[in-house]
Amino acid sequence: MADKNPSLSLTPKTKKIVIVGAGIIGASLGYYLSQRNDITVTLLERDTPGAGASGHSFAWANAFGKDPREYHTLNRRSLDMWYRLAHQLDTDIGIHYGGEMRWESDPQRAAQLRQRIHQIQRWGYPCRLITCDEMLTLEAHLQPGTVLAASLSEADIHIETDTFIDVCLRQACEAGAVVHSQTEATGFVVRNGSVAAVKTPNGEFPCDVVVLASGVQTTELASLAKARIPQQRSPGIVIKTTPCVEVLHNVAVIHAPPKDENHQHLHLRQLADGSLRIGQGTQEGINRDDSQAHADALLARAKTYLPAIADAKAIPTPVGYRPMPLDGFPVLGFTKAVPNLYIALMHSGVTLAPFVGEMATLEIVDDVRVDWFAPYRPERFG
Ligand SMILES: Cc1cc2nc3c(=O)[nH]c(=O)nc-3n(C[C@H](O)[C@H](O)[C@H](O)COP(=O)(O)OP(=O)(O)OC[C@H]3O[C@@H](n4cnc5c(N)ncnc54)[C@H](O)[C@@H]3O)c2cc1C
Repeated sequence: MADKNPSLSLTPKTKKIVIVGAGIIGASLGYYLSQRNDITVTLLERDTPGAGASGHSFAWANAFGKDPREYHTLNRRSLDMWYRLAHQLDTDIGIHYGGEMRWESDPQRAAQLRQRIHQIQRWGYPCRLITCDEMLTLEAHLQPGTVLAASLSEADIHIETDTFIDVCLRQACEAGAVVHSQTEATGFVVRNGSVAAVKTPNGEFPCDVVVLASGVQTTELASLAKARIPQQRSPGIVIKTTPCVEVLHNVAVIHAPPKDENHQHLHLRQLADGSLRIGQGTQEGINRDDSQAHADALLARAKTYLPAIADAKAIPTPVGYRPMPLDGFPVLGFTKAVPNLYIALMHSGVTLAPFVGEMATLEIVDDVRVDWFAPYRPERFG
């Protein structure tokens, strides 16, 4: 933690904070902020909570593929915080523990996996190479085919985002926060260079601080306050299935190799109701195909690795748009243009939600600048 933020002239005593967006980031922030004294928290959500990227996410919390090291560490800190947050919220928040298991059947990719594991082990990530026998001991239903290298990243988890968002908002409301669903922020009342109120069709919401946790819409909203927060378009698809038998007994997430050059890696997780979530490619991979044929094809590939899910039916899911800042890294902090406008925009928001919620609360309430956020300030975009 470091020096005071000189641009803020706010004094405590019922600081009014309006959060625009009730995805996983807005919900986490709403929870942390509402736990503080002399703070009133209002969340404005134009749809229903979780309707944005959070509801379309693969929701694998990890620091596996996060480079450079500084960004890996940010994700790692947040990943490790999920356990503390679960304890604090003291109810089922939709976490699935057990780590992430992956394997490769192509010699070049197997070499890359070994290299990656050694690199992140040096960074202190709890992961290791495992044998095919260990894979099958962990997941007896698996029929992995050729395994040239396999790994387990033991700290990784996945999260049922709807459950987590519900819990955060419920506990925030118990602490006095108010959530307005179907209430779209359409503009700002700016007085003396600061946002005095957020405009909506249902009226104006006065504020001392406004937080944009509005996902892909953050760019447009920020521009209304003359702040430049550029994003790239990043559509992705994670299909759902009907509930099926429990196939993942120990690990939370699996990444299976492509069968051939025409395919991408497959990732899969299972929810408490038995349904599966399946995606392909990397966490940043572009995919716009929300057809039944695509959903069927993904599930068919999953069935070759997990024949026990033979009865599952694929449910196509609409395209989800990742909040994706132009350089791929989070945008966190007050803007120079409007000193009481706080931006919380990021990909990997499922991984980052606990840490961002807790640290942004320090910045907003205690008027400090958190060093961990220094590389991710909004002014880097000019
Ligand atoms: C296909 C896919 C796979 C992903 N996989 C992973 C993964 O495995 N791991 C990981 O960590 N991350 C993953 N992500 C990214 C992660 O889901 C997002 O970073 C995270 O959900 C962002 O949360 P958020 O709350 O910032 O945004 P959102 O969930 O989009 O929430 C923003 C909310 O703001 C509301 N809103 C927008 N404009 C307004 C307005 N004007 N007024 C009021 N409300 C407004 C929206 O309706 C929305 O509910 C994935 C995303 C996608 C799409």
